[in-house]
Amino acid sequence: MCRKVVFSGTCPHCSGNFTWDELTQELSCLEAKNNGVFGLCKEGAVVDEKPHDQECDACAAELEADEGYDGEKHRNKKQRTS
Ligand SMILES: [Zn+2]
Ligand SMILES: [Zn+2]
Repeated sequence: MCRKVVFSGTCPHCSGNFTWDELTQELSCLEAKNNGVFGLCKEGAVVDEKPHDQECDACAAELEADEGYDGEKHRNKKQRTS
């Protein structure tokens, strides 16, 4: 059976719920690989949902644009290297 790993969670800034499509992984089993299509097998595909919180695109862009941001809420996060 194939596995689709979906990451979804909350943006810590706007508290919105998001599914991070760019992180989604489709893991085909051998049968699906032979058929050339994800999920095309006897058992079909199961969705494995993983919790994942990160800033959404809108908030990330906002923080990026805000030069004066003091980083108070980001103390436990990695420094941006830009
Ligand atoms: Zn499969
Ligand atoms: Zn957000």
